[in-house]
Formats: sequence, structure tokens, C-alpha cells
Amino acid sequence: MSERPKTKWEHARDAFELGDREAFAHLPRPVHCDPRILHAGEECVYCDQATELQAERERLGISNTGKQNRKWPCPADQARSAKNYNAWPGNRPYPNGYQHDQHVDDESDDE
Ligand SMILES: [Zn+2]
Repeated sequence: MSERPKTKWEHARDAFELGDREAFAHLPRPVHCDPRILHAGEECVYCDQATELQAERERLGISNTGKQNRKWPCPADQARSAKNYNAWPGNRPYPNGYQHDQHVDDESDDE
């Protein structure tokens, strides 16, 4: 089985483990608290603005979070369930930007 190509973040993690902290200076900033999350542009204004990260995913064939729109799954979806990462508001998609009084219905029952 072939392996999904590494994202910049995964290269950075490798570099970090090898002791190359400089590698972090060259990374684009993550959009959400979980840096593996990158929504499709139409779902989230913040991810839509992350053009460099979007281009990287497209180039590597990695899907956006919560979708199977490319060859490889999103690393966030691979690591845990949507219910799990969406439990934290900082990881949710914001189509109109974050509003302070916004109530997001999570579809979770009780966990
Ligand atoms: Zn997003």
C-alpha cells in the first residue's frame, strides 16, 4: 500500500523530531486550533483565505476536512471523528466568519 504524501506540517514535525527548529519558521500559519484541519473554501472564510495551504493540499491530492474530494483523506479526519474535533469551536468551519453570539448546533447527542 502506498502512503499519502507528507504535508508541510508533517515535514516540519519530522524536522522537529530531528532537531531542526528552523523548519518552523518557514511554515504558513495553521487556520484552526488543530493544524490538520483545512475546510473547503466555500465552507469556511478562514480556510478560504489560506491560499498557500489550499494549494499544497491540491498539489498533494489531500482532501479537505470532512470531505473526500481528493485522493487522500484529510489527516484530521484520519486521526479522529468530526464529532470529536468539532467539539472545540476553534476547529469548526465558519462560512460567514466567527460571531461572538453564534450558536453552533453540534449534532452530538450526549457524549
Ligand atoms: Zn476552516
